[in-house]
Amino acid sequence: MAKIQAIRGMNDILPDQTPVWQYVESTVRKVLAQYGYQEIRMPIVEQTELFKRSIGEVTDIVEKEMYTFDDRNGDSLTLRPEGTAGCVRAAEEHGLLFNQTRRLWYTGPMFRHERPQKGRYRQFHQIGVECFGMAGPDIDAELLVLTARLWAAFGLEDHASLEINSIGTSESRKVYRDALVSYLEQFRDQLDEDSKRRLTTNPLRILDSKDPQTRKLLEGAPSLSEYPDDESQRHFEQLKALLDAAGVTYTVNPALVRGLDYYGKTVFEWVTQSLGAQGTICAGGRYDGLVEQLGGKSTVAVGFAMGLERLILLLETLGLVPDEVNNAADIYVTAMGDPVIASAMAVADRLRNELPGRVVVTHCGGGSFKSQMKKADRSGARYAVILGENELANGTAGLKPLRDDQPQQDVPQADLARVLAELV
Ligand code: ATP
Ligand code: MG
Repeated sequence: MAKIQAIRGMNDILPDQTPVWQYVESTVRKVLAQYGYQEIRMPIVEQTELFKRSIGEVTDIVEKEMYTFDDRNGDSLTLRPEGTAGCVRAAEEHGLLFNQTRRLWYTGPMFRHERPQKGRYRQFHQIGVECFGMAGPDIDAELLVLTARLWAAFGLEDHASLEINSIGTSESRKVYRDALVSYLEQFRDQLDEDSKRRLTTNPLRILDSKDPQTRKLLEGAPSLSEYPDDESQRHFEQLKALLDAAGVTYTVNPALVRGLDYYGKTVFEWVTQSLGAQGTICAGGRYDGLVEQLGGKSTVAVGFAMGLERLILLLETLGLVPDEVNNAADIYVTAMGDPVIASAMAVADRLRNELPGRVVVTHCGGGSFKSQMKKADRSGARYAVILGENELANGTAGLKPLRDDQPQQDVPQADLARVLAELV
């Protein structure tokens, strides 16, 4: 019978890989905690309507990329393609937003039916951050300062650059939208099919087109930055001043729009040159209208999401994963012969009590001295504790260095933890 394999674009994360994932997740967790952000956990599945209403009907995600299905009740459900919609839904549903400010974060898998390639998968993972109830550019700046601190924590400060833009209020975008449509109407025949359709449904989405011919036409199009409104302009100027003061460097990219409908005013992306086409490792912006659009009381908001696969790929490509991020054991306790097993387990457990930060692996499964030592070596441990019937009788243990040529020494079992504390 043919073996069943994983679904294309959905990756297993194997034991060799999990240490780097844990390293990335715990580093991000620590930084977010430093800034007072609180974790929220939402379901992976939501009503399809939630994503249609928030991300927008005429976006790549909703038109082409969602995993949507009817459950047994006939309700249309969707595997979340991103976290903002669910986070807003949850926060609103549980009264977290009314008359208060919130700094929230979440992590987990997201699902998009895209063409799998390096840095682009059908199940991928994000850490997302959403802030509610703060209208000023101060919180936008905080998010960017926080991400800059994160890159520094990973040693990435020279490998991620920040692009920012202001896409105005929804009123100013309406005026711009008309100008864009009249410009593009002249070239209707040369537009790709999606863009042609979007000319009537959602023209701003055309700015996001990846089609080369459409991109060429867009070069001559009016720019969103020529249609600023006072309010967004002021917000953007203040944001830039705050970033300057904090020493966060950025470039203003007037062509930067985001692939989701809910953004307004500030949008930003952190981009790296080291990952080819999938260079955006973190992206976000302000979405002051979304909470209300989803039926809540008007609440301003700003957030971002970073793609963990891309971040990890980047760290690995640049050789920035610290050496100590691995699965290696520190100490491997062998048991030579059945009568020794119980005391080997007891010795190992005592080591765990006394050296709580170390990884102590007990040999299980029997075998010859040679095969146990081979396993000890493969575990990555720096020391093997050798227990046989002689040691059992004498109350000692053999302590054998595995990573250098030092001789084995005999240590009283009572002293083992103290001796090992100095060595590993
Ligand atoms: P892209 O332009 O690369 O398609 P996007 O604008 O669709 O990205 P967002 O929806 O803003 O991406 O998601 C935020 C981040 O999540 C991205 O910057 C990226 O790091 C990551 N990401 C998005 N889609 C994928 C995917 N299919 N596979 C892996 N990571 C992804
Ligand atoms: Mg995308």
